[in-house]
Amino acid sequence: MDCLDGAPGKLRNFKKSDFGPDWIKVAERRFSKVYRVRLNVWREQCALKCLDTSVSANKFYRRMTEEASEIAKVKIKYIVSIYGLCSDPAAVVMEYMSNGSLDHLLDSHTVMWPKKFQMIHEVTMGMNFLHSMTPPMLHLNLKTSNLLLDEHLHIKISDSGLIKWEEGLDKGIFLDYLTSRGNISYIPPEMFNMSPQPPGAAFDVYSFAIVIWEILTQQRPYPGRSVTTLLVQVSGGKRPSVDMVPDDKPPECGQMIDIMEQCWDQDLHTRPSFADIVSKTEVLSEVLKIPGINSSVKQRPEYLQLTSPPQKIAHQDMADLPPGSTAMLSLL
Ligand code: ATP
Ligand code: MG
Repeated sequence: MDCLDGAPGKLRNFKKSDFGPDWIKVAERRFSKVYRVRLNVWREQCALKCLDTSVSANKFYRRMTEEASEIAKVKIKYIVSIYGLCSDPAAVVMEYMSNGSLDHLLDSHTVMWPKKFQMIHEVTMGMNFLHSMTPPMLHLNLKTSNLLLDEHLHIKISDSGLIKWEEGLDKGIFLDYLTSRGNISYIPPEMFNMSPQPPGAAFDVYSFAIVIWEILTQQRPYPGRSVTTLLVQVSGGKRPSVDMVPDDKPPECGQMIDIMEQCWDQDLHTRPSFADIVSKTEVLSEVLKIPGINSSVKQRPEYLQLTSPPQKIAHQDMADLPPGSTAMLSLL
């Protein structure tokens, strides 16, 4: 089928000839390669996530042709849009996010508190949307490498709805699969016990808590710990240290930490829903807004500075900054 044939609510089927000749590799992971390519028909950049089909690597990815229409329904600014699928090479075709992923940004820049709060709120908005679908769409792969940044440094959640829990599946096999993707820190403790309960919304809420911790601290959780050690410790109630949140935090950070701690509660039934959280993160991100910065970043040169790393990224959309400029700009 030609890529123009995609009906509303359905994912399009692309073929190799729908893309331009220049494929720029953006990232290579154990189970996937991501390229920036140009879609001829739309004359638009897109990202092509090519999946490793030779191994069981992506066996929990949705059987795309049968089930992808659900993913096609997800259209909101907090979620990376999936345009369609390509069978040769096997790939997901999606919106290209020019500023890469949050894990890299947190490693390379110092992010100011208002921006941190805004980012957390944007993740909550996206997750609340997914969980309020009928039936709720679980992410099951929420992590900072799946939070992508657009040209204005706003967050969109990527790879939503791609990992799927199969009815009657062995939890141990599912756990192995997630662990092999490097997701061990984001997996809630109930997945480590023998109960046959499948993962539900509280799984994503737990992963979100770890994301909050990473944003607040700009650290990676549990450095240097083996999977087995982590499994035992997290099952016993261990979490990343709240003391790692920097001392220069604003007073409102106490409330954000409370939310984080509720979200990683050992008892999955005690964790709040994203519908509960979203109004709280909205208030917190509003409180820390820098007054007047909405108008025009360019007109407020005191907020911009050329620096060498570590650079500082602060709050608000950098709507007037040229795309890809994060490496050289800082907002103080
Ligand atoms: P997983 O397969 O479990 O989601 P991952 O997120 O680490 O793991 P990929 O989804 O293949 O692996 O993404 C690898 C990297 O490619 C991301 O961290 C990001 O830097 C980049 N990337 C992914 N999707 C896009 C996109 N749509 N636009 C721009 N860059 C992207
Ligand atoms: Mg990903």
